[in-house]
Amino acid sequence: MIDKINIFWFRRDLRLQDNAGLYHALKGKYPVLPIFILDTQILDKLEDRADARVDFIHQTLTELKFELEALGSTLCVLHGAPKQIWQQLLDDYVIDTVYTNHDYEPYAQTRDESIKQLLQSYSIDFKTFKDHVIFEKEEIVKDDGKPYTIFTPYSKKWKAKLETQFAEYQGESISFYLNPYPTEKYFQHFIKTTPLEMPTLEQIGFQKSNLSFPPKTVTRGLIKNYDKNRDFPALNGTSKLGIHFRFGTISIRAKALNALKINEIYLNELIWRDFYAAILYHFPQVVQGAFRPAYDKIAWLNDDAHFEKWCAGKTGYPLVDAGMRELNATGYMHNRVRMVVASFLTKHLLIDWRLGELYFAQKLLDYDLASNNGGWQWAAGCGTDAAPYFRIFNPTSQHEKFDKNAVYIRQWIPEWGTNAYPKPIVEHTMARERCLKTYKAALGA
Ligand SMILES: Cc1cc2nc3c(=O)[nH]c(=O)nc-3n(C[C@H](O)[C@H](O)[C@H](O)COP(=O)(O)OP(=O)(O)OC[C@H]3O[C@@H](n4cnc5c(N)ncnc54)[C@H](O)[C@@H]3O)c2cc1C
Repeated sequence: MIDKINIFWFRRDLRLQDNAGLYHALKGKYPVLPIFILDTQILDKLEDRADARVDFIHQTLTELKFELEALGSTLCVLHGAPKQIWQQLLDDYVIDTVYTNHDYEPYAQTRDESIKQLLQSYSIDFKTFKDHVIFEKEEIVKDDGKPYTIFTPYSKKWKAKLETQFAEYQGESISFYLNPYPTEKYFQHFIKTTPLEMPTLEQIGFQKSNLSFPPKTVTRGLIKNYDKNRDFPALNGTSKLGIHFRFGTISIRAKALNALKINEIYLNELIWRDFYAAILYHFPQVVQGAFRPAYDKIAWLNDDAHFEKWCAGKTGYPLVDAGMRELNATGYMHNRVRMVVASFLTKHLLIDWRLGELYFAQKLLDYDLASNNGGWQWAAGCGTDAAPYFRIFNPTSQHEKFDKNAVYIRQWIPEWGTNAYPKPIVEHTMARERCLKTYKAALGA
């Protein structure tokens, strides 16, 4: 007789510690086979065969597999379309229950619904858990049950909810919602097996990237001084943890607990992350168009030559260019600069925010649909909690304010200040007036 097993399906939660779904799987009745699917429906759409995110996932899976093998288990890494892979797993194993964590992106929601139905047709339970955020779905809604669309009241409710239930952790009373899941107590429930083969990067059609990845840890000092330093791109003032939050290589609960103790401004940033995940969940239509439909009427100019110059960091506006060059070279861009380059593209150049969003999606190591879409819609003025359209960032005064001594600019634009550096591709005052006129016309304001 073949033994029954449970399966834990890793997705954007690539860690063994403090993992909600994994904890529930390990507490179940049957040994747990951990799996990961290298999803061809996602991978086949990536243009760059040296995409650093794929390399990062592959490296992380290799480490996870190593950790699991030290526990006498393994990681089953599969390559293909999820439906076919699950069909194969159903043929190979006798499965009692499948455990996984929630993913709020529209593609993931559809995928999970179809896998749930497939499993149900075999009378297999599909149990899913919250892990990626502190609060999800309907946990933070207005008193009338409707989702928030403005950050400040959302964040107040978020903070208030954190205080509604407490738990004991390492002798301290902490919010129940930040209490870690002690998966390590149940590690003996991983299936005992010899190591399984894992496809190499080359076998799945990719190669190693030449980018390096930021570490998973940050100093206490950095978080402590976050509010003072976070707006200055020349300083090492932000955590660079985005990629780790995105792929779940660190736990959001642990970081929020840390932030709560050390710096509330840092905590606010983590709340923005929850906020945008909730917006995407409640309003999936933001993926296609503006949250405020009137903004879909804007007559974008979409000048190809301007777009290329923006991508290459050759607009003649140094803060914009330094940001784009940083992105192209490292897969990272400082938040203040993301706001400036996004505003410049949409407002000064009148290029559709979706083109900028797509470029960021291809380049950012920390790319996350919810936060990227939220950030772009905010910058274009068409989002949930957007700056009013008539507030247009002046890229020159942003540079004078946040990189006064041009340390960041010089780092990325060695030819700045020489004849080799391009002249501005648009004149600020003209571009500002043109933007106001175009937005007004679309909005009938
Ligand atoms: C146009 C635009 C596009 C963006 N695209 C993304 C994206 O694809 N992925 C992404 O994670 N963030 C995105 N952001 C938000 C923010 O710029 C990045 O999270 C941040 O710069 C990442 O650097 P860090 O890890 O050093 O952040 P820190 O400043 O150290 O913040 C810590 C964490 O908080 C979260 N966070 C911080 N600011 C925000 C924010 N405004 N919205 C949502 N979460 C936030 C992130 O998870 C971040 O890693 C975007 C912002 C803009 C304006």
